[in-house]
Amino acid sequence: SSSCPAQYRIVIIGAPQVGKTSLANQFMTSEYVAFENDTDDKEDNPGVRSITVLLDSEESTLEFIEMSLETKDLDEQPCDAFGIVFSINDQASFRSAVEVLHCLRHDIGTDRPIILIGNKIDLVRKRKVPKEDGRAAAIKYESKYTETSAALNHHVDELLVGLLTQIRLKLTPK
Ligand code: GDP
Repeated sequence: SSSCPAQYRIVIIGAPQVGKTSLANQFMTSEYVAFENDTDDKEDNPGVRSITVLLDSEESTLEFIEMSLETKDLDEQPCDAFGIVFSINDQASFRSAVEVLHCLRHDIGTDRPIILIGNKIDLVRKRKVPKEDGRAAAIKYESKYTETSAALNHHVDELLVGLLTQIRLKLTPK
């Protein structure tokens, strides 16, 4: 149809320095992006970015909101999906990601998609978190697991497509 694209909000959460901003920056340059939207409060809120994506002949507007681990009442965030980021060379960032995943799944139930994201896979020799651990945590909490390198823009498009696909699947009436 020619109506306005559906608009979805995605909360990106994770420890400091894991690559949340870098991932969001790479989303902006994806080949799936039709255009970037102005956000109302760019000055106050550099952590909010909005793009309109064309996937399967359908446009959707995705708003990304970065949040820290300290954010209270995550489950009350008006959003359609969560991306929980850790860095594969940092065990502590993985532990806190799994803790957020555990709490979030407990609080929100299974209605909204959560993707666990192991970033910095270019740091092969510094890897501390086996891929299998990431995958196991995701399975345990009914979420998806994906690994990316924001630095090399590796698998970032797949992550973007994965997020939108998960949202569309969950919102499609059964
Ligand atoms: P944030 O605090 O989670 O938003 O993390 P940033 O996006 O600011 O990234 C923190 C640091 O990690 C910066 O120096 C980035 O350049 C670096 N970084 C981000 N993603 C990657 C990655 O995939 N690989 C590598 N090697 N460094 C990365």
